[in-house]
Amino acid sequence: MKGRIFVVSGPSGVGKSTICRELVKQLDNIYLSVSTTTREKKAGEREGKDYHFVSRDEFERQIKAGNFFEYAEVFGNLYGTPKDKLQQALEQGKTAILEIDVQGAQNVKKLYPEAKLIFILPPKQAELQKRINGRGRDDGKDAEKRIQGAGAEIAAAWQHYEYMVINDDLEQAVEEITQIIK
Ligand code: ADP
Ligand code: 5GP
Repeated sequence: MKGRIFVVSGPSGVGKSTICRELVKQLDNIYLSVSTTTREKKAGEREGKDYHFVSRDEFERQIKAGNFFEYAEVFGNLYGTPKDKLQQALEQGKTAILEIDVQGAQNVKKLYPEAKLIFILPPKQAELQKRINGRGRDDGKDAEKRIQGAGAEIAAAWQHYEYMVINDDLEQAVEEITQIIK
C-alpha cells in the first residue's frame, strides 16, 4: 500500500467533521473514509455521505464477511471503517483520513503502524457543550452522554496520539493539521 493514513479523533462536538470537510476541500489527493454505523440517522445527515446506515444484523454480517478494516462499539452503537475503499485509495497513493474513536485509532495503529494519530481538543469544556447543543443534532439524553464521555476520551487519548490540535479558531486548526499531513 502506497498511501498514508491519518486518524482524526476527539470528543463529540469538537469539530472533527467540520475540520475533515475543510481538509478535503483544501488538499489534493485526499480520501475521507465514510464509516458504516448502526446508529440512527440524524437530521441533516445523508446516507453514503456522512455514514452508511445499516441494521445491527447487517453490520454483524459485514464483520463476518471481513468487510471492516477496524470497528468498535461507541455510545452503544457499532461503527466500522470499510476496508475495500480504503485499500483502493491507499493503492492509488491517496492520503486517507479516518475520523474514528480512540479504540479504533489504537487498532489502526496495530494494523498499520505508519498511521499517524491526531487528537482534536476543545479550547475549554464549556465550548464543547455549546457546540454539541448548537449542532442541534442530538436529543438531551444523547448530548449528555456525549458530554460525559468527553473527559474519559481525552484521558485515554493523550498517551496514544502523536499530535494534539486545539480547535479554537477553525482556520488555524485546519492549517495545523495541513502542516502535519505535509
Ligand atoms: P464532531 O464531528 O467532532 O462531532 P462537528 O464538526 O459536527 O463536530 O462540529 C460541532 C459544531 O461545532 C458544529 O456546529 C460546527 O459548526 C461547530 N464548530 C466546529 N469547529 C468550530 C470552531 N473552531 N469554532 C466554533 N464552532 C465550531
Ligand atoms: P457520531 O455518532 O458522533 O457520528 O460518532 C461517535 C463516535 O464514533 C465518534 O468518536 C466517531 O469518531 C466514532 N466513529 C465514527 N466512525 C467510526 C469508525 O468507523 N470506527 C470507529 N472505531 N469509530 C468511529
